[in-house]
Amino acid sequence: MNTEFDEISKFHGHKCPGLAMGYRMTRAAMKRLAESSAVDEELVAIVENDACGVDALQWLTGCTFGKGNFIFQDYGKQVYTIYSRNSGKGVRAHFRDGAAPEAARGSKQQLMEWILAADENDVVDVEDVSIEPPPKAVVYRSIKCDVCGEGVMETRIQKVDDRSLCIPCAQKQ
Ligand SMILES: [Zn+2]
Ligand SMILES: [Zn+2]
Repeated sequence: MNTEFDEISKFHGHKCPGLAMGYRMTRAAMKRLAESSAVDEELVAIVENDACGVDALQWLTGCTFGKGNFIFQDYGKQVYTIYSRNSGKGVRAHFRDGAAPEAARGSKQQLMEWILAADENDVVDVEDVSIEPPPKAVVYRSIKCDVCGEGVMETRIQKVDDRSLCIPCAQKQ
């Protein structure tokens, strides 16, 4: 039994093939990162889908949306890139489409078990990449919306008839 995967499925809420895919992709990427010792540095993750598996990545890497080191690019691809913020060096993990044999596709349970047990080379492709470091985060002022009175980051303010509005209030005008 894979107790680490059990813990991750508690965090995620259920066990599913997608979570198993994310688990294998993240583990493969981190193994490769460990070989270049980048795993001790501050990591940033870019995920190219927002399906179940990204919860495995967040649990295993500590990269989260709230910390700003978890970036979602809506490409609909089973690809995770994890890299060191300092060096920009990292790895890209891709889950192989159609890797599972017909016999493993009978049920979600079967497919999940196959994914968890498969040889890493049969399910994940990993390659080294270099990433341009993202620009330093800018801190913006907060401005009061003239309708609801709630604070809004200045870059999100909408100008309507000389008033400064938040997006929800501007949409109701
Ligand atoms: Zn799931
Ligand atoms: Zn408002």
